[in-house]
Formats: sequence, structure tokens, C-alpha cells
Amino acid sequence: MDLRKTLRTTAPYIQKLAENGYPSARDLLLYFPRAYEDRSNIKKLEELVEDEVQTVKLKVVKKNIIRTRTGKQIQEVTLIDENEVKVMIQYFRMSYDFKKIELLKRYYVIGKPTGSYGKVKFMHPQVIPAHDTSGAESESAEVGRIYPIYSDMQGIKAAWFAKKMFLLQPYIAELFTTDLPETFLDRYDLPNIVQTISQLHFPESFEQQVAAQRRLFFMRLLRIQLHSLQSKLNYIHTKTSQEPDRTYIKEFLATLPFTLTGAQKRCIKEMIDDIHGDRTMMRLLQWDVGSGKTVVAAAVAYHILRKNNGQIALLAPLEVLAVQHYRSLAKLFLPLGIRIQLLTGSLTASEKKKIKQSLAAGSIDIIVGTHAIIQQDINFHNLQLAIIDEQHKFWVRQRGFFQRFDSPHLLQMTATPIPRSLTLAFFGEFEVSVIDEMPAGRKPIQTKIVSNTEAKKMKPRVLTKIEQEQKVFVVTPLIDESEHLEDTASVLAEREETQAIYPELAGKIWLMHGKMKSADKDQVMKDFKSGKYVILVSTTVIEVGIDIPDATIIIIKNAERFGLSQLHQLRGRVWRNDIQSYCFLQTPRKSWETYQRLRHMENTMDGFKLAEIDLQIRGAGEMLGTRQSGQTDVPLEILTDTKFLAEVKEAWLRLTQHHPEYIQQVLWDETQEKIGELLV
Ligand code: ADP
Ligand code: MG
Repeated sequence: MDLRKTLRTTAPYIQKLAENGYPSARDLLLYFPRAYEDRSNIKKLEELVEDEVQTVKLKVVKKNIIRTRTGKQIQEVTLIDENEVKVMIQYFRMSYDFKKIELLKRYYVIGKPTGSYGKVKFMHPQVIPAHDTSGAESESAEVGRIYPIYSDMQGIKAAWFAKKMFLLQPYIAELFTTDLPETFLDRYDLPNIVQTISQLHFPESFEQQVAAQRRLFFMRLLRIQLHSLQSKLNYIHTKTSQEPDRTYIKEFLATLPFTLTGAQKRCIKEMIDDIHGDRTMMRLLQWDVGSGKTVVAAAVAYHILRKNNGQIALLAPLEVLAVQHYRSLAKLFLPLGIRIQLLTGSLTASEKKKIKQSLAAGSIDIIVGTHAIIQQDINFHNLQLAIIDEQHKFWVRQRGFFQRFDSPHLLQMTATPIPRSLTLAFFGEFEVSVIDEMPAGRKPIQTKIVSNTEAKKMKPRVLTKIEQEQKVFVVTPLIDESEHLEDTASVLAEREETQAIYPELAGKIWLMHGKMKSADKDQVMKDFKSGKYVILVSTTVIEVGIDIPDATIIIIKNAERFGLSQLHQLRGRVWRNDIQSYCFLQTPRKSWETYQRLRHMENTMDGFKLAEIDLQIRGAGEMLGTRQSGQTDVPLEILTDTKFLAEVKEAWLRLTQHHPEYIQQVLWDETQEKIGELLV
């Protein structure tokens, strides 16, 4: 097919399409509309309602330009319907449409009408001729149907597509010939591929458009799950199962200064069962900050070490976190004669070299570090367990690295509670363990929303706490997430403000931001711990897992800019066992919506509940931290529709068990462009 001829367009347009990744008619047909407008109904004047886009067909009887007293020009068109009732169109800016409109011709006028003094008026409507060039009345592709609205493409305006796609309609059936079996589609009530593509571009009804879109999302989720499954199958290997051996776990638990909660014990049991089972463990361990995930991971590590003489790697996304993990694990393990080592980017070359040699020789049992431990030149003697803390994406990226070492058991830990529907959809390859119980005696944090004007009232409490040798965090959002420079700027500005409020604490207010070197951050943390500083102003670099035992107040500035999950995560920094802690959510204006949303923070300490609310309010992209373009996004209604998710799950099982021959087809389904972005 000659695309230029079919589209009745010029070579530069064809060129632009190709540059945007749509070189053929088939590709272009996969460029779906982002929204629809109901133009199927041409309304009579008396049927019009205000404030809704509607279409009427009218005849032009007068055009004129009025000058206002301030010298502005208003362009006016007067039209009539078949009963000669008058309608007015006004343009406040110079309009090309106005110029084109011809007297005594008929037009479709599309827009939101307003009515005043008994007269219907349209401001800047869309005006489409209801006649062809010869002047005869004609059908238009732009009215009389549900009208698709596309996004602008680099160099091509959205409106162009609606007209041009129409010309491709006759070719859909010949361009899309492969499809999933009818029995499969029927079972899940999915339209076939030709119907799907036709109804997305040229819906005959909103029901059919919704059905087509449903297939899109169905396949999208199915594909995500198949990817997870594939990645799992590529990773794990099978082995002979054994009777679970709990000797070492018992031995380890006896060395702890506290007894585990029931939930911690259950999670350990789940993992010990995995390890003795018939394939590699892949487990996601989640629950709030401070629920005691580390000790659970440590117990499992101890088992692997003692029972199989295996090595363990613990990966953390930040150096401060790695250091902290190292310290808490060293406290548990050094007295037991276990060789544990920290490896981060800030060690000297010769230190690193020595550690690498020891790792390869097997004279280190546990290595804790940042991505410094997953470099090409790292070798293990007998790596059997990889623990990944707080970083959902490590696994996808580094799967290859671990595969090199014969796929050790994998334990992914996260303190971001992820709603069940999302774990199913996006972490399908992991088994999930949840520590849904806090160690005894943990007090809820008292959380309060304060406006900027109320902020002064916090001062006495802050000073009292500081007198009792407790510490305060002040967290400020980035001015602009994309600009790392702003990171420094917002922290500096915030510190100045804080210093102005607390002149009596001069010299004891310090700052930390993402641009600082790891060593400097470490130093600041040390000085904060030791009491040299009592208030630490920072960006969200303190978010993940950082532990300052006597920090009891956190003030979060511009709290309205954060998601609830993130606020909860931040607040977790001051969640103590023994002392009452406080979290102040400061926000410039107490708008109704902000207030309603932040109030959940005052009312609950349940991270899962907050995550669910976040999902309802802000969508899944926010939660997963993935950048989702309009095309790859799976809408919220779908992710919270458990019936739909259950159907996808069933389809997934059916495909893998009964129709493996179609898996490739689903993975490369025509309508599934770019979904891989979600996974990496
Ligand atoms: P997480 O990693 O889940 O945020 P940690 O593992 O760092 O939490 O545990 C937080 C603190 O609670 C640690 O100081 C740990 O020693 C302590 N802890 C863990 N489990 C218990 C328990 N069952 N009883 C009392 N304290 C516990
Ligand atoms: Mg932790």
C-alpha cells in the first residue's frame, strides 16, 4: 500500500510519521485515540444543554466584526436552524475559522453552548462544513459519529489523525490477520483483533469502544504476568525437596535479646519451607518500617550459612542504608563468629580488591553493600541467598548477575506496603510474605496537619523534645523533581527558614541532600546521632530505612506534594518503641482536598490502608514509581477491579497450562506496544 496515496497526504507527513515510529498503515492503526467525543447525535437547538460538548447543524446568515470600546475586535457569526431560530458564534481572537465561514452555507457547529437572554451562543466552537467543495450537502468524517481524539504527535496536530485514520478503516481486516483462538476470546468476552482496532478508532457505540479497550487492558495485564512468569522460569531451577530443618533457626533465635512476633515466625517458616522445597525461592517480604524485617532475613541467612555453608549478599540502594544494615547484622553475627563484610563504592581500590578476593575464596560469609557488590568483576565462592532491600527494580535489572551464580534464593524486602491487587499484577513472580504485626509496645505516631500560619505553635514542643536530647527531622520536597540542582537549593532555603524560627539552636541545625557525597552524608548522620546537630533539614534522601534512634519529631514541609505512602514512609523514621513521637504535616493552604487526603495520615498507622487510598486517589503509576505514558497505563478502575484481575489470572493459568503455543502471540500481541517499559 502506498501510505501517502491512501492518506491523501504529502511526503513530509509520511516522513514525520516514520520519524515518530509509525512507518506503515499497520503501525499507524496502533496509534489509538486518547479520548472520544460524542458527535453521533446531531442535536436540535431546543435539545441543547449547557456546558456539554454537542453538535448542531446551522446555516450562516451574517458575519461581522465588532470593535469594543477598548479597541478589541470580536468576530461574530449569526446562524439559523431550520425554524430560523438565531444562534451566535463569537471569536475573541483572530480566527482562521471565521475567515473560512461562507455566507448562506451550512455548517456543523461543535462546542459547549451558553444561553443568555434567550439566545444560544458558542465561543470558539469547532466549525465543520456540511457541504463539499462544490457546495452540495455532504457527509463528514468529523460528525455523525463518536469522534476519536488523538494526542499530538511530534510535528503533527491531533486533529489530523481523526480525518486520516478514517481513510485506513477499509484496510484493517487485511492488515491484522493473526489473532488468538476464538474459543479463548469468547471465554473472556473479548472482541477479535479487527473489531478491537476498528472500535477503538471508529466506535459504533460507547459499549463497543469500552469492550475494545477492555481487550487492550486484559492483554496488557496478561502480558505483564506472562513476562513475570517467564522471568521466573528463566531464573529458578528445580531441585529435590527436603524435610524442613529448623535446627539452625532455633539456634539463631536463642541468641536474640527479644522474642519474635507471631508474624515474624510465620514469615521465617514460609521461607524455610521455600528453601527446602523443590525450587529456588523468590519471595517478597513486606510490611512497614520497623516491623522487624531485618531480623527475619538474618534468621534465614543464618540457616543458609550453617546448613549449606552458603554465602549471602545483601543489597541496599544507598550507602547509608548499606552501612546501617551492616551494623545491625554485624551486631547479630560477629559474636557468632560469622564473617561479615561491607562493600561500598567509597572504599579504596585496594580495599575493594581484597574484599573481592576473599569473596571469591569463600572467606567472607555475608557481604553487605550497594550495587558495588553486583559488578562484573565480583565472584562468589558459593552464593546461595541474595537479599534485596527497598529497591523493587534491582531484581529486574540484576537478574542476569545472579543467574551467573546459579540463581541463588531471592528475598526481596520492601517497607512500602503494596496493595494486593498490585502485587498480583506487577510482582506476580514472587511469593508474598507479610509481617502484619508490629513488635509489642510500639506507640502510634501522633500526626497533625498544620498550616504555615499554625507552624509557630510547634516550637515549644520541638524545644522541649530537644531539651530531652531528642532529635528533629525537617523534610522538604524537591522544588522540581527533574532538577537535581534544585535539591540543594530547596534544602538551603529550608535551613535558613528553620534557623530563623530557632535562633536559640544556632549551629545545631544541619542539612543533608542528594548531591552530597556518601562520606559527607555519613558524617552528617554521625554528628546527628551524637547530638552535635539536633535538627536535620533534608530532602527525601532520609526516606528509606535510615535509623536515628532518638529522633522523635518529623516536620514534613509541603506535605500536600507527597503521596500518602511516601509520607508514611517518612514518618516511619521516628517510629519508636519507647517514646511518643510526632509527625507534623505542614501545608501552605488547607484546601479541602488536601485536608481530606492528609487526614488519613492523622487517622491511621496502617501502611497498607494508606497505600490503598493512594491507589484510589493518585493511581498506580505513583505507587510503582514507573513512568507510564498514556499508552502503557493501566487505569485505576481496572487495577482495583478484582473480578477483572481474577479473570486475567485465570486466563494466564489457562494459557500456560493448556495453550502454551499461544504465549508468544500474547507477548507480541498487536495491541501491546511498549508494555516492556513497565517492567524495567
Ligand atoms: P524493618 O527493617 O522492618 O524496618 P528492623 O528489622 O530494622 O525493621 O527492626 C526495627 C527494630 O525493631 C530493630 O531495632 C530490631 O532489633 C527491633 N525488633 C525486631 N523485631 C523485634 C521483636 N520481635 N521485638 C522487639 N524488637 C524487635
Ligand atoms: Mg529495614
